[in-house]
Amino acid sequence: MLTFDWDDIKQNGLSLNSRVDLTAVPELQALAEGEECEFLAPLEVDLRIFPAGDLLEVVGSFTTEIVVNCSRCLCRFSSELVEGFELSLVKELPQVTDEDGSEVELSADEMGLVLVETDNIDLLPYVIEQVIMAFPYRVLCREDCRGVCASCGVDLNQQRCQCRSENVLNKYAALKDFKIPK
Ligand SMILES: [Zn+2]
Ligand SMILES: [Zn+2]
Repeated sequence: MLTFDWDDIKQNGLSLNSRVDLTAVPELQALAEGEECEFLAPLEVDLRIFPAGDLLEVVGSFTTEIVVNCSRCLCRFSSELVEGFELSLVKELPQVTDEDGSEVELSADEMGLVLVETDNIDLLPYVIEQVIMAFPYRVLCREDCRGVCASCGVDLNQQRCQCRSENVLNKYAALKDFKIPK
């Protein structure tokens, strides 16, 4: 579980870890369907929460394994999804004033803060948000993936495509018959 009470966080902080079954998270199921990816492993989340003035600072990381399609050759491959993140939780937004001393209305988001409304806090929704942000929308199966031939669709990592060699042959043939005008 990734829940705690605000008042439970004492000076030396609190560590939480959890294994989240991603099939039980509708947002990630929607992501998996939209991106045609699969989560192969549960999400392993590790968090440390500690007080910092009026804030609670959360330093966390998650890891899971996904199967995605290569953006270039379209093959399916598995990849680790590992990311660290930090959150600053507040119960009240600080007042922000501009140079003239007048109050500026900023949202929690704009201040880089997470506004929590109850003393009992569930960090799972925030972690899920981080997973969605960290999701690789364009991935290559390997750095030098050669992709597929645009005209015949052959996977150029696996074989040479015929149409390219034909093009070369045609060019050669054309050159052979080419007569330099006098
Ligand atoms: Zn590829
Ligand atoms: Zn081809």
